[in-house]
Amino acid sequence: RHGGDDGGGTPRTTPEIRYTKLFINGRFVDAASGTKNSLYRWVGGLLQKNSEQNVYRVEAHSPMEFRESKTFETRDPRTGDVIARVAEGDKEDVDLAVKAAREAFDHGEWPRMSGSERGKVMAKYAEVVERHADELAALESLDAGKPLAAAECVGILRYFAGAADKIHGETLKMSRQLQGYTLREPLGVAGLIIPWNFPTMMFFLKVSPALAAGCTIVVKPAEQTPLSALFLAHLSKQAGVPDGVINVVTGFGPTAGAAISSHMDVDVVAFTGSTEVGRLIMEASAKSNLKPVALELGGKSPFIVFDDADLDKAVELAIGGNFFNKGEACVAGSRVFVQEGIYDRFEQKLADTMKSWVVGDPFDPRVNQGPQVDKAQYERVLGYIEQGKAEGATVLTGGNPCGKKGYYIEPTIFTNVKDDMVIAREEIFGPVMCLMKFKTVEEAIERANGTRYGLAAGLVTRDIDVANRMARSIRAGVVWVNCYFAMDRSCPFGGRKMSGFGKDDSMHALDKFLAVKSVVTPVHGSPW
Ligand code: ADP
Repeated sequence: RHGGDDGGGTPRTTPEIRYTKLFINGRFVDAASGTKNSLYRWVGGLLQKNSEQNVYRVEAHSPMEFRESKTFETRDPRTGDVIARVAEGDKEDVDLAVKAAREAFDHGEWPRMSGSERGKVMAKYAEVVERHADELAALESLDAGKPLAAAECVGILRYFAGAADKIHGETLKMSRQLQGYTLREPLGVAGLIIPWNFPTMMFFLKVSPALAAGCTIVVKPAEQTPLSALFLAHLSKQAGVPDGVINVVTGFGPTAGAAISSHMDVDVVAFTGSTEVGRLIMEASAKSNLKPVALELGGKSPFIVFDDADLDKAVELAIGGNFFNKGEACVAGSRVFVQEGIYDRFEQKLADTMKSWVVGDPFDPRVNQGPQVDKAQYERVLGYIEQGKAEGATVLTGGNPCGKKGYYIEPTIFTNVKDDMVIAREEIFGPVMCLMKFKTVEEAIERANGTRYGLAAGLVTRDIDVANRMARSIRAGVVWVNCYFAMDRSCPFGGRKMSGFGKDDSMHALDKFLAVKSVVTPVHGSPW
């Protein structure tokens, strides 16, 4: 069913889009790129108008206002319409942002404040974001085609506000009459490159631990969803985060993103996105200054239902695990393995439940699933669906685009899927589920691990022994037993294998922004 065309989905609030420029050193500025030409044009225009126009008035403006700098379009995924033009940052802009962050780190107060002072500013930031939750949610719906769990995002910031004064080293008991201790120091300038699927949440997942650690920051939001990061930068200033501590450069991956990952003066990069781009980022680090990188990448996570499972629960979790956020989730449990004893009932119940699933405008409260984020993703997902059909999988539900406009796709469930089909191996990042049958626990382990990815896994069983055995045997960053998407601020999140390394959430998230330094002194009277 498609609920998007009935006119019932008008936004509750249409946000005013106020921030579309780069945020560097506490100010919104145009992109540096494109300046030269337009400056010439401006000077040319000035000379021409000299005789007829009031030159005095023209001079009263700064030349900056006459710049015509580069911008790009961001669109509403419900309609494909352009909602704003946003500054297109490139290498030159990244250089300026890194310079501001460097200055704020080397000479500014942020890394020199006590942890509790930093925590206080961060708590204030959380408060300011909370006050603007409605505006932020509307902005996110408009730009990313999805509702926002603002409270969750503020929760991340609050968690790390509380963590800021709990970062400490160890006292070392050393041999040879030495004593020592470790310091955990902020690494420096952190480049944070984030994706479009949860724009606000990703911003806080990366920014909050970096702030708590005492790093200064250059964020590059995804080109599909640049608006929330700019708004959040504005709010950070309101909350008293010092200038230069958070900088936001909007722009494209191969230009602005690559400029961050290959920058000689960026000390660490934390990235969430595709495995393909994660590889490029690691490469860029290797070819530049060997900055450490943390990569939260793609997945093809198994969701395993055993014969003894609570059927209703299992179906509900499988649906959530695949169609939540229109399948645009790195942890999507897209390989659903169901044990043969319960398989037929599971399949039937799944198909029945999907009949009441509504695809449509995310502003409409009746809607379960919004549009894919943009045309490219929409076409990519439809391509996979066609490939699944061509490979011989059977369409149980969906299988087609839907809606008269916008990037809507029917939730699609394939049966008769073989492990080696492309749809069972590659991350689709859309509402596409592969349903497969298995016989034994051993087989479930083998097939669950039969992937290059290792982000998440889910299982449904009442048997504690099966649950324990599976939990220990699956090579993934998280195993959800009788639940899925059970994220919590105190639970480390991040993958292994080609799903990357480094953790978001929990105190582990701080590690990627901290350096451990050992300080050693001889004990009095020792031969040292
Ligand atoms: P997805 O496949 O989910 O769109 P990507 O991995 O392409 O995710 O993008 C995630 C983020 O990485 C975005 O902010 C994007 O602009 C950025 N990005 C893309 N290509 C590069 C690159 N070559 N170097 C650095 N960042 C990049």
